Amino acid sequence: MNKFLVLVVEDDAPVRNLITTTLKTHDYRYLTAEDGENAILQATSHNPDVILLDLGLPDMDGVEVIKKIRSWSNTPIIVISARSEDTDKIDALDAGADDYLTKPFSVEELLARLRVTQRHFALMRQEKENDTVFENGDLKIDYAAGCAFLAGTELHLTPIEYKLLCLLSRNIGRVLTHTYITQQVWGSSWENDVASLRVFMATLRKKLESGADAKQYIQTHIGVGYRMLRVE
Ligand code: CA
Repeated sequence: MNKFLVLVVEDDAPVRNLITTTLKTHDYRYLTAEDGENAILQATSHNPDVILLDLGLPDMDGVEVIKKIRSWSNTPIIVISARSEDTDKIDALDAGADDYLTKPFSVEELLARLRVTQRHFALMRQEKENDTVFENGDLKIDYAAGCAFLAGTELHLTPIEYKLLCLLSRNIGRVLTHTYITQQVWGSSWENDVASLRVFMATLRKKLESGADAKQYIQTHIGVGYRMLRVE
């Protein structure tokens, strides 16, 4: 029995039915809301484990819903947006959403995102007790000592590469937008910073992901940002 409780916020009945049918088939528990006001109410009274949130709601902007929920809760939020709402998706991630699905999405995609969120949730709890050392696959970061290792060998990173690596690792599983990353690393977000970010990310990835048995640690979301993947 899957005890995960999912709050589905979607005003479009066919999409909502597709989601709830999928959840039911895979033993998730779920609640539904058709607008923003109801979503906030359900989130407050039932404290779900994850929220699937459509950005285009009849009564309020999905981004506003995220801001309201984020003022008191860290519940993972996966936004659902149409392809034409790319900027909304970025605003949603900046407002504190964890991940996104673009319509139309497949049942497999939906389940995969939920699994990632579930695993992230479980690991976050474990890591709270041990947050000075981060481990993911062959990557190890000693935050206290300020150094990173790959398969036991110290990585020679520039200060910015190290900062980027720490930011991604502390938010593992989350898609971080260009704006968020540049603000965290440079304290600003000009066009030039985004261009620099691409360069630093490329050099970081080269150090992290090259070699014979290289694994992918960082995922690029074109036009959106980057995410650190959980490596087995
Ligand atoms: Ca909608």
